[in-house]
Amino acid sequence: FIKEKVSMLHVIEEVIEIMQPQAYKNHVVIQLKADEECDSMITGNVNHLKQMFINLVKNAIEVMENGGTITIELKNICNKVQVLIKDEGTGIPEENLNKLFTPFFTTKDEGTGLGLSLVKKVVDEHHGKISVESIVDVGSTFILEFPGYTENY
Ligand code: ADP
Ligand code: MG
Repeated sequence: FIKEKVSMLHVIEEVIEIMQPQAYKNHVVIQLKADEECDSMITGNVNHLKQMFINLVKNAIEVMENGGTITIELKNICNKVQVLIKDEGTGIPEENLNKLFTPFFTTKDEGTGLGLSLVKKVVDEHHGKISVESIVDVGSTFILEFPGYTENY
């Protein structure tokens, strides 16, 4: 698949637009916080990255039954692009944390359990890292980190 110079900020802005109707329906507000000087360029595949963020935002919307705010934070530190996706949902019990990225793991009646396994695949494709911080009944934050763009990749 094609890898090119990609603006993570543009990808995220497009995903927010795509997810807006579903968020609105669920009384969820999606807030974007990006460092003013964050250039957010990486070497990547736009379509794969979009699908990755769609899956994460969709999960966040689905765990906020009474609405709330999803905060997407974009940071550029030491030639790394970091994205935090924070929700105010159910949180994730400790015993499930290491199962999240396993294909077919789901706690939903009609879940496929495939969303996060794809997320992990796309993160790996981009030589990135993903981790999760979560507090039951408070919310979860998915933290993604990617190597920044370089000419001679
Ligand atoms: P699905 O959404 O079909 O269940 P996913 O792979 O997207 O499959 O997610 C797997 C499971 O991880 C979910 O069923 C849920 O238990 C948990 N999960 C994922 N994202 C969140 C989140 N933002 N908050 C709480 N739990 C989550
Ligand atoms: Mg899902």
